[in-house]
Amino acid sequence: MIIVLTTKVVTFSNFIDGEWKEALSGKTFVSLNPANKDEVVGTFQASNEKDVQLAIEAASKAFPKWVQTAPSKRAAILNKAASILEENADKLAKELTREEGKHMNDAKNEVLRSAQTLRYYAVEGQSFTGETFPNDDPNMKVSTEREPLGVVSVITPWNFPISIPARKIAPALITGNTVVFKPSSDTPLIALRLVEALHNAGIPEGVINFVTGKSSDVGDLLVTHPAVKAVTFTGSTAAGEDIHQKSAFTTRTQMELGGKNPIIVMDDADVELAATLTVNGGFSLTGQACTGTSRVIVLKEVKEAYIQKLIEKTSELKIGNGFEDGVKIGPLANEKQLKNVLKYIEYGKEDGATLVYGGEQLTKGEFQQGFYVQPAIFANVTPNMRIAKEEIFGPVVAIIEVETYEEAIAIANDVEYGLSASIVTNNLKLAHQFTKDIQAGTVKVNRTTTGNLINAPFGGLKKSSTSTFRESGRVGLEFFTQVKTVYVGY
Ligand code: NAD
Repeated sequence: MIIVLTTKVVTFSNFIDGEWKEALSGKTFVSLNPANKDEVVGTFQASNEKDVQLAIEAASKAFPKWVQTAPSKRAAILNKAASILEENADKLAKELTREEGKHMNDAKNEVLRSAQTLRYYAVEGQSFTGETFPNDDPNMKVSTEREPLGVVSVITPWNFPISIPARKIAPALITGNTVVFKPSSDTPLIALRLVEALHNAGIPEGVINFVTGKSSDVGDLLVTHPAVKAVTFTGSTAAGEDIHQKSAFTTRTQMELGGKNPIIVMDDADVELAATLTVNGGFSLTGQACTGTSRVIVLKEVKEAYIQKLIEKTSELKIGNGFEDGVKIGPLANEKQLKNVLKYIEYGKEDGATLVYGGEQLTKGEFQQGFYVQPAIFANVTPNMRIAKEEIFGPVVAIIEVETYEEAIAIANDVEYGLSASIVTNNLKLAHQFTKDIQAGTVKVNRTTTGNLINAPFGGLKKSSTSTFRESGRVGLEFFTQVKTVYVGY
């Protein structure tokens, strides 16, 4: 599977038809450590459409046998792969931190959560079934059956580089589909480890295939090939729209996309709690969670006290390499991310918001080689400013003052996204009203905008998701199966 080039840098392969293979182009690319851009984490295959073609053919060939494989056998493979991830969690967490930048503790939690996801679907997928329908004919039974779709393309981002693939691949496999998986080029190593775990757990050849490379070289065929029956994608809204438009009429798509998630701080809110929720939702994972808090809509009465607390708590966050103890904010994941975050900090200033905390790039000493930026807090933001409307995907929070709940809701809903939203209040009536009024797929009360359960549905409204299928939980299995209605007369 691996070819050692030097003592340090390892070249990793694609995984096609049960074998580790080099790309036909003969070209490779490197994955870098965002805390030290001179450090190469690994070299990966710069694949093109010929490699994708082989992967899709392998997945197509493997499908008839995999669909006949007993669900309990498929589940056993998922469980064994979960054990492999758990046994190697420390080593994998180190690789994840080195490749993506998040703190070791977060990285380990992500690896363990991925194992838990495999186990969850190993159980849930075995009892996922159809329904029977009463009818007027005493000699007829009407029921639905759920069948797998066939070959599924899985395309994923870098921010949760193993848990997002796990929550797509596990339900695809347990329901009998075969997979072609393309990870983000920023985090191919930890993605490969998931595939390796499945391989070592005994998954038959061709059932899971892994192809790395630029989306411009491999993306189109993954989406347009006639044998691909479904595409499950997580990433930016722009890429999601592109994939959705390109995919064939008969190809099922599931797109989990961007967000511009608000937290509303009501006049009765515990401002200490509101500040903690904002810091955790907005700045953990360096603000690089799709459900990260990026707007605070705060009632005039508590604004000053809230901002004071928020600055206090933000200034306590230690910035640094994810391998260091106590670090809460690691580097941004790549140079593009850094440039984009700095660009939006400039937009905030240009548009007339007040930068009340942070927002500086850190370039000296230990930060010299990494993509570091201080978390930024903007006050006096108005709803039409770019920092209040557009996804930034970094540690930048925009505070908008309002006078009423109605105004807060109108502003919260006046963006093209609808992924996650929260309200901080002790008013039970208002809390319930909020769950009805807010346009978001994930709605929280007195909790961070981030975080979702493995066993509950996850997805957004508006441009945060395609309005087709949810991920996670039992409903996460629906996307990967089609319904057949069967009438049996006897
Ligand atoms: P991205 O859209 O640049 O890339 C995501 C993946 O898609 C990568 O593997 C990339 O190579 C591939 N890709 C990009 N364009 C493609 C195309 N036209 N055809 C086929 N493949 C293509 O996103 P990113 O920078 O990796 O991740 C950040 C984005 O992901 C943010 O917008 C964030 O909100 C979103 N995200 C959403 C969720 C969610 O569940 N809603 C979760 C995490 C991240």
